[in-house]
Amino acid sequence: MSEKACTVCHLITTGNICPRCKTPTLSDDFSGMVIIFDPQGSAIAKAMNIKEKGRYALKVR
Ligand SMILES: [Zn+2]
Repeated sequence: MSEKACTVCHLITTGNICPRCKTPTLSDDFSGMVIIFDPQGSAIAKAMNIKEKGRYALKVR
């Protein structure tokens, strides 16, 4: 199964729609991956406006 990244919220998923924001606009052309365990305490999460735990792509094209 190939992983894709949501072009809206950058969440990485193996499904056909983003489980977080339900958008079907996913891209397999992404780079970088961050795993957010603690959205409240993470500077990266704040910078990317992430409020939920999960794996996110840094860049999605
Ligand atoms: Zn999304």
